[in-house]
Amino acid sequence: MALAFDEFGRPFIILREQEQKSRLRGLDAQKANIAAGKAVAKILRTSLGPKGMDKMLQSPDGEVTVTNDGATILEQMDVDNQIAKLMVELSQSQDYEIGDGTTGVVVLAGSLLEQAERLLERGIHPIRVAEGYEMASRIAVDHLQHISKKFEFGLENIEPLVQTCMTTLSSKIVNRCKRPLAEIAVRAVLAVADLERKDVNLDLIKVEGKVGGKLEDTELVYGILIDKDMSHPQMPKRIEDAKIAILTCPFEPPKPKTKHKVDIDTVEKFQTLRVQEQEYFDQMVQKCKDAGATLVICQWGFDDEANHLLMHRNLPAVRWVGGVELELIAIATGGRIVPRFQELTPDKLGKAGLVREKSFGTTKDRMLYIEHCANSRAVTIFIRGGNKMMIEETKRSIHDALCVARNLIRNNSIVYGGGSAEISCSVAVEAAADKHPGVEQYAIRAFADALDAVPMALAENSGLQPIETLNAVKSQQIKEKNPHCGIDCNDVGTNDMCEQNVFETLIGKQQQILLATQVVKMILKIDDVISPSEY
Ligand code: ADP
Ligand code: MG
Repeated sequence: MALAFDEFGRPFIILREQEQKSRLRGLDAQKANIAAGKAVAKILRTSLGPKGMDKMLQSPDGEVTVTNDGATILEQMDVDNQIAKLMVELSQSQDYEIGDGTTGVVVLAGSLLEQAERLLERGIHPIRVAEGYEMASRIAVDHLQHISKKFEFGLENIEPLVQTCMTTLSSKIVNRCKRPLAEIAVRAVLAVADLERKDVNLDLIKVEGKVGGKLEDTELVYGILIDKDMSHPQMPKRIEDAKIAILTCPFEPPKPKTKHKVDIDTVEKFQTLRVQEQEYFDQMVQKCKDAGATLVICQWGFDDEANHLLMHRNLPAVRWVGGVELELIAIATGGRIVPRFQELTPDKLGKAGLVREKSFGTTKDRMLYIEHCANSRAVTIFIRGGNKMMIEETKRSIHDALCVARNLIRNNSIVYGGGSAEISCSVAVEAAADKHPGVEQYAIRAFADALDAVPMALAENSGLQPIETLNAVKSQQIKEKNPHCGIDCNDVGTNDMCEQNVFETLIGKQQQILLATQVVKMILKIDDVISPSEY
C-alpha cells in the first residue's frame, strides 16, 4: 500500500496489484468485522454452562475431539477470517492466564460487538463507543471486587476449594463424578503448592491417562507414573526403598564418533570382540551396582545381551523413558540425571520409598508407579475412562479445575456464578450510565445490556425462557439487594447461587470482562480492511 497525491494535492492510496485485493472501508469494514466476531461467539454460545452442549470436531487426519471447552473448540476449528482469529486468541489468552472461563469470554465479546453495531448504526463514532466500553468495564471490574467474598481455607479445610472446582467441572462431560475429580484436583494442587508464597507450579502435576476402567477409577498418585514396564519379565515387580540411577547413556559398547571399520575374519577375532563387548556391559552394570543403585532408569534402550545381564546381576531396569519423564523423576526422587557411567556416584541416585509395576485388565498393559519419593512435591493424576476421547476431555476438564484451584490459592476471592455476577454488574453499570452526561452513556448502557448475554445464554441452554428468566432474576436482585441470584440451570429450586454453591474465582471473572472489552475495542478501531480478494 502506498500513499500518493494527485495534482490538487489530495491524497489517495495505491494498492499494489489492485485488482487482486478487496477493500472495505469505514462503517462497512466495522460491520463486516463485527459480523465475523459475532459468528464465532454464536458457535460457542450453546456450549456455555452446566447444560451446555458439546462439540465434535474432526481434524483433517480424521481424529475426533469431543469437547465443551471454548479454547479447545476454537483451536481445533479452521478459522481463516482475521477477526475471527482474534476471537480465537481471546479465548486462548483467557485459557493461558486463568484456565477457565474460555467460553464465557467469547460469548461476552460477541454480545459487546452486537451492541456496538447498534450504536454505530445510530451514528455514534466507534471511538466514543470504545471509550464508553472502557469506562463501563472499569465500573464492572470494581463492582466485582465489591461483591466478591474472601474464601478461607486451609490444609484441613479444603471444602471451599473443592466446591469451586466442582462448579468448573459441572459444565463438562465428566460432571457425573465431579466430586471425586474436584477432590483429586484440589489435593494435587495442595500437594505441590507453596502456600507461603501463594504459588503453584502446575508443571509438577502430571496428568496421565489410559484407556480402560471407568472414570471413577481415576486416582491421584503421590509420585510419578510412567507408561513403561521393567525391561525383563523376570525382574522384581516391587522394589522398596529404591535407589534409582537415572541415566541418559545407553547400555551399549561405546561407538567412536569418527568413521571406523572392524574387520573380523577369523574365529579368534570374533571371540575377542565378543568377550570385549561382554566386559563393557559387565563394567557398566558393575558401576551401577558399585554406586548402590537398586533400579536403573534409562533414556535409551539396551540390547538383549545387556538386558539378560541386568536380570542376571539382579539389577532391575526400565528402558526408553522419555526426557520429560526423566526430568520429573529426577525432581521427584531428588536424583541427578547422569550422562556417563563414570560419573555415577551414590549421591546422584534418586530415592523412592516404593517402586511398583501395576498391570491393568487382561491386557499386557503395565505402568510403573514411583511413590513416596524423597521430594514428594511431584504428583500424577491418573485418568481412566472408556475411550480416548473421554480421557482427552477429562484431561482438559481436570486442567480447568487445577487452574481454578491454583487461582484460588493465589487470590482467595470468589464471586458467585450462574450469571449472578454478570447481572449484578449489569445493574451497577446501568446505574453508573446515568451519571455520565456525554455520548459515552449510550455505550455504557450498551455494555450493561451486553453483560446480560451470559445469564441469557445460560437460561437458553437450560431450556428456560431466556428473557423472562433474566428479567425475573434481575428484578429479584434489585428488590432483595442480593447479588447472589442467578440462573437456576439445574432446576434445583432456588436461584440463590450461594445456596447452590456455584462459585467462580474473582480474578477469572475480572479477566473475562477486561479481555473481552479489549478485543472489542480493537475490532471497533479497525476501519480499513485490505485483503487478497477471492477469485
Ligand atoms: P467456560 O468455558 O466459560 O468456563 P462453562 O461451560 O464452564 O464455560 O460454563 C461456565 C458458566 O456456567 C459460568 O457462568 C458458571 O457460573 C455457570 N455454571 C456452572 N455451574 C453452574 C450451575 N450449577 N448452575 C448455574 N450456573 C452454573
Ligand atoms: Mg468452565
